[in-house]
Amino acid sequence: MSHVPKLRLNDGRSLPQLGLGVWQIPDAEAGCVVREAINAGYRSIDTAAIYANEHGTGEGIRSSGLAREELYVTTKLWNDSHGYDRTLQAFDRSLARLGLDYVDLYLMHWPVPALNLYVDSWKAMLRLRAEGRARSIGVSNFNPRHLQELIEVTGIVPAVNQIELHPRFQQKAVQAFNTRRGIVTESWSPLGQGTSLGNTVIQSIAAKHGRTPAQIILRWHLELGFMVIPKSRQAARLKENLAVFDFALSPGDLLAIGRLDTADGRIGGDPELEA
Ligand code: NAD
Repeated sequence: MSHVPKLRLNDGRSLPQLGLGVWQIPDAEAGCVVREAINAGYRSIDTAAIYANEHGTGEGIRSSGLAREELYVTTKLWNDSHGYDRTLQAFDRSLARLGLDYVDLYLMHWPVPALNLYVDSWKAMLRLRAEGRARSIGVSNFNPRHLQELIEVTGIVPAVNQIELHPRFQQKAVQAFNTRRGIVTESWSPLGQGTSLGNTVIQSIAAKHGRTPAQIILRWHLELGFMVIPKSRQAARLKENLAVFDFALSPGDLLAIGRLDTADGRIGGDPELEA
C-alpha cells in the first residue's frame, strides 16, 4: 500500500499512518475482515488481548498470503496483566494467539492508576523490545502525568500514545504533550464511532470536496499528523476509509473542524478511572 504515508517513530522505526481497528469484530469473523482489508490495501492492523480476536486476526494475516514484513501488527496488554512478570506472560499469550513471532507495536492499553503498576509493566515492555519480539513499544490512554512518570523512572519515551480522539473530543493538552516529547499520537475511535458523521460542518466540507463525511474526518486526523485506525467490516467502507490520500483540506476546513471540540465529547473510559 505504497500510497499510505509512514510516520517516523522516536525509536527510528516507522508505521503506516492509517490502519484497520478490529475492536468488536468477533474472533470467527476477524480472519475474513482482516484478509479483505489486506486485499483492499490495508497494511496495518490494530487488535488487543481484550478484543478476543487475536486468533482470527492472525488467521487473516496468514491467509492473506502477504509476507509478514509487509504488515504492521499492533496488540495491547490488558489491565488484568499489569506488573513485570504478568506483562511478559500476557505478551507470550498474545503472540501465541496471533501465531506470530513478533509484533510491530505493543501498547499498554490503559495506565490503571489504581493499581499503580504501569512503570513495572513498562519495564517488562522494554525487555520485550530489547528481545526484538515487540519491535516498538508504546502506551494507550496515558495522560501527561502518566507519561511523565514512565519517562522520569526509565528514561524511555513511548513511541506512540493511542488515545480517544475525534472532532468532538480532541484532547489538545495530551496532543501537545505527545508532540513535545516526540510521541506519535494515534487516534482511537477516529470517527467518534459515527457520532460526528452527521455534523453540519463536516457535511458541508464533505459536499465542497465531493467526499464522504468519514473521509473528511480521516483526512483531518492525517493532516494533523495523527495515526488513525478506523473500524469497519463492510467492504465498501473499508475502501472508502482508505481512499483519503488524493485530496487535501484547506486551512479553513481544519480550523472549522478544530472548533467542533467539546468538553463532554468523550465516548470511552477516563484514563484516571478505568480499572
Ligand atoms: P470508529 O470511530 O472507527 O467508528 C467505527 C464505526 O463507524 C463502525 O461501527 C462503523 O459502523 C462506522 N463506520 C466506519 N467507517 C464508516 C464510513 N466510511 N461511513 C460511515 N460509517 C462508518 O470507532 P471504533 O471502532 O471505536 O475505533 C476504531 C478502533 O480504535 C477500534 O477498532 C480499536 O482498534 C481502537 N480502539 C482503541 C481503544 C483503546 O482504548 N486503545 C478504544 C476503542 C477503540
